[in-house]
Amino acid sequence: MSHTLLKIISIDPGFVTNMETQEKAKAILAKHYRPSTIEFQTTDSIEFIDQGANFESVACNSCGRDLEMDEWQALVDNAFEKQFEDLTFITSCCHSKSSLNDLKYNMPAGFAKFTVSISEAPEEPTENELSQLEGLLGTKLRMIWCHY
Ligand SMILES: [Zn+2]
Repeated sequence: MSHTLLKIISIDPGFVTNMETQEKAKAILAKHYRPSTIEFQTTDSIEFIDQGANFESVACNSCGRDLEMDEWQALVDNAFEKQFEDLTFITSCCHSKSSLNDLKYNMPAGFAKFTVSISEAPEEPTENELSQLEGLLGTKLRMIWCHY
């Protein structure tokens, strides 16, 4: 059975927040989604927050050229050895300084310690809800539609 999750992460992979702030974030989201479908997760180290079967391609954020999957996987393996604390690398396509977190994932993905997951979300939060969340958490956020 397929399953869709909407994941919300910070654009800053190392971002974490406290329980009190998470409760406030949940209160904002609970106006839009059933509270039982909203979950918060914080991991000790940074993880790749993937889009599941929605992963089609990944492109350079400087020149827009697609990365070969082998190349991308090697970069991820290399960064994983450092617990994803350093996601920077030099692209082979245009020799630009980039970060695995800044590449153009199609569909979006990213790296994070802190993840909000909403199961079977019918849609993304409204712009107003999103700006409330960003104001509360003090960080810009990224939406990841994950399909398993
Ligand atoms: Zn490039």
